[in-house]
Parts: sequence; structure tokens; C-alpha cells
Amino acid sequence: MVEIKEHSLNSVEKHVHMQKQYFKTGATRSKEFRVKMLETLEKQIKKNEEEISRALKLDLNKSESEAYVTEIGFLLEEIRFTMKHINRWMKPKKVKTAITHIGSKSYTIAEPYGVSLIIAPWNYPFQLQLAPLIGAIAAGNTAILKPSELTPNTSNILASIISEVFDPEYIAVLEGGIDTTTYLLEQPFDYIFFTGSVPVGKIVMKAAAKRLIPITLELGGKSPCIIDETANVELAVKRIAFGKLINAGQTCIAPDYLYVHKNVKEKFYMEFKKVIVEFYGENPIANEHFAKIVNERHFNRLTTYLSQGEILHGGRMDETSHKIEPTLIVPNSMTSEIMTEEIFGPILPMIEYEEIQEVIDFVTSRPKPLALYLFTKSESIEKQVTETISFGGGCINDTLMHIATPYLPFGGVGESGIGTYHGESSFHAFSHNKSILKQTNLFDFRFRYPHAENGLAKLKKLMK
Ligand code: NAD
Repeated sequence: MVEIKEHSLNSVEKHVHMQKQYFKTGATRSKEFRVKMLETLEKQIKKNEEEISRALKLDLNKSESEAYVTEIGFLLEEIRFTMKHINRWMKPKKVKTAITHIGSKSYTIAEPYGVSLIIAPWNYPFQLQLAPLIGAIAAGNTAILKPSELTPNTSNILASIISEVFDPEYIAVLEGGIDTTTYLLEQPFDYIFFTGSVPVGKIVMKAAAKRLIPITLELGGKSPCIIDETANVELAVKRIAFGKLINAGQTCIAPDYLYVHKNVKEKFYMEFKKVIVEFYGENPIANEHFAKIVNERHFNRLTTYLSQGEILHGGRMDETSHKIEPTLIVPNSMTSEIMTEEIFGPILPMIEYEEIQEVIDFVTSRPKPLALYLFTKSESIEKQVTETISFGGGCINDTLMHIATPYLPFGGVGESGIGTYHGESSFHAFSHNKSILKQTNLFDFRFRYPHAENGLAKLKKLMK
């Protein structure tokens, strides 16, 4: 078992100080430097693909293809996209100037914040650490990375592949748990990017507030999935099972619970049973491609949910391998933990509804979700749901796929997070948009100065 050691306060301070000094030299700012560093990262990921995959297998029992699609390949694609567009993103942007400012020009410059801190969770421990880093590099920042201590093999590989090619004064991985993170949060960072749970997000925001450090918070919560009576149920079940069971449900945007229209409930249930066998066989627990629950604490937390409803399908578990079978369950109550806490496992509560308004009323009475999925062929239901419920992002007739396109900004709203990233959004997340007005020296309007003759009358003509 790999052990993660905490950093001392002194070590944390030294790293931040080193990066502050390095950032001041201006070395990270040129386009050439940023592109070179992105290429270095890309090469390093490709070179270590096997080791990364092995670490993910050890930590989460991720299959090779799951590890590639959701972690390694995802990052390579994000780097490729960033390198293709960085030129345009970096260019100062001209904007119009108001008539009141005649003679002057205006533009904005995206400038790097400086030294950034990127804290990652354990569920996609490689990807969620490096996807924000791509934005940090592209925007010209330095970065300190803090991986999750719950996935120690991935944390180790991150530390070794980063330190092999990047100087710690530019990018450093500081492995550790709560102590190291607490020391880090006391430092004068210029930007903090946090991915993780709502309670820890609040700790991060409080620490950032002390120094007014700008932040992005990528948090979690309960993401609803609605199956309307007009939905293509066969397709819906496949796409929901895919989104719920990848990484055994330990995905921030996995469908957390289902609202199924009463007219298609029976069909949904029959299809669900069929699809689970098709995807994972008669005994998913024994399937080597089905991920495990990260540790005993989370395994025990999840198994308590199994007693909070009537199990329609699944329900078996294995304590030794920390695996839980894909489970469809009708909750006993809407106030039990299974319906109030983020599930983050392969358990799917199903609730029946008749009128879409019932669903809207329930979802809007809860914290704003990170994702929402709606399966329907009705444009009016689509309009009603997307226009009345606030959520981070989502899909119509699919799950998860909105995260996989760099053209859509990704993030939450309210309790599910602050700010967005991916593609151009990552570049902007790590940049301050500086506004500049360049005034002419060829003429000067005297009427704006105090005591100018007819000054107020002229100003009133211009500003009405
Ligand atoms: P977590 O909040 O427990 O941990 C995240 C990070 O914070 C880790 O690096 C951990 O070491 C650190 N940390 C933990 N407790 C801390 C404390 N008391 N003080 C300071 N630092 C602390 O989250 P997790 O369990 O690793 O991840 C699961 C959560 O993350 C879920 O809620 C999930 O929805 C969310 N998540 C969100 C996204 C997203 O993109 N929005 C992606 C993945 C996971």
C-alpha cells in the first residue's frame, strides 16, 4: 500500500515563495513558453500511459478503456484543442468605445493571475488534477497541484511525472491530505481552483475570502434525471446506465436519482434489468471491468442506502472487493439520506410522477444541481424544464456527454459550484480580463473639467 506523507507548513511556504519569485520573472507569459509546456505535458502523459492506467486500476479498479476515455484521452484532447486555439485566446480583444469617449480606443488583455493552487478529488484523480492545469499553463500561470490522498497510486504517479519534466518553481505537486491542504489554503495564492465536495468547497471559499483570492469551485450534489412519457425508453435506459455506472457511479455528474413518468415506469424497469446484464453480465460484482468503491468508509456509507427503499433490481455487494451491484431502488421517503445526500455510487433511486410540474417543484426546492438530464421528444417539456430549473449544465436525451465537448463551458451554479472551465473557459478561468482605454493626445474636451464654461450643459447633451 502506497503511503501519502503530509507536507510541513515550511515546505508549503517554500514552494509558494519559489513560484511567486519565478512568476515575477515573466518567464511563463510568452505564447512560445506556454505552447512548449503544453507539448511537454502531452508527451509526458503519452509516455506514461501504461503507468497511469495501472495506478487507476489499483486505486479504483478502472478498466483500461474507462481510464483512457475519461482520464488520459480526455486530457490529450483538451491539450490538442488548447494548442489549436491559444493564439486567438491570447490576443488582446478590441471592443467598441462609447460616443462619450470620442478619440480613444478600448481593448481587453487576458493576463495570468500568477501562482495558482489546484486541488483535486479522488474520483477522476488524474484528469481532474490536470484538466485545470492545462488552463493554468495556457493562461500563463504557475501552479501547485494537490491530488487526493484517497487515490495514493495516482497521486504518486502525478508527482513523479510532473517533477520529471517541470521545475517546482513552475509546477509542483504537493501530495497530502487535510493538513497539507490546510497549510496551502493559508498561502497568498493568486487563484484557487477546487474540485470536490460541497462541505470542503465551503472551507476553501472561507480561506480564499480572508485574502479575497479569486476562485473556481467545481462541486457536486444530486443531479436529477427525468424520463418523460414521450421518451425513447430503450435508448434512455442505455444512456442512463452508461452515465450512472461508469466508475461505479462515482462521477460528479452521474444521474443521482430518476423521475420516471408513470406510463413508462414498467417499461423502464424491464429495460433496465436487460441492459445491466448486457453491459456487465449476470453478476456485475465479478465483472473485472466494473469499478470498485474507493474505500471502506464510502462502501459502508453506500450500503446503508440499500435499506432506505424497496430494491427493484440488484442490491448485492462484496465487502472484500468493495463492489456494489447496479441497483434500482424505490426510496421509502423523500427525506431519507438516499434522497438528500449525493449518492456517488451505483445506486439509483426511482420516483414515479404524473405531471412534470411535480418534478419541477421538487427539484427547485432543493440546492441547484450540477447536472440535469431530460429524456423526452416533447419540445414543450424540454422548454419548460430548461427554462424553469436552474442547474450547472446537462443533456436532453443523454447523460454526461455535455462534459466531453470543449465548446461547452462546464461548471455548477449555487451549491453545485462557481465558475466554469474546459476549452476556452479554462483559459478564461485562469486569466484576469484587464480593460484598457487608450486616450488620444490630439485633442481634449475641456468641458469635463471643473468650472468649464457651459460644461454641465455639454455633458448633458452627451450623456442622456
Ligand atoms: P473532498 O471535498 O472530500 O476532497 C477534495 C480535496 O479536498 C482532496 O484533495 C482532499 O484532500 C481535500 N480535503 C478534504 N477534506 C479537507 C478539509 N477538511 N480541509 C481541506 N482540504 C480537504 O471530495 P472528494 O471526496 O475527493 O470528491 C468527491 C466530491 O467531489 C463529490 O461531492 C463530487 O460530486 C465532487 N466532484 C465534483 C466534480 C466537478 O467537476 N464539479 C468532479 C469530481 C468530483
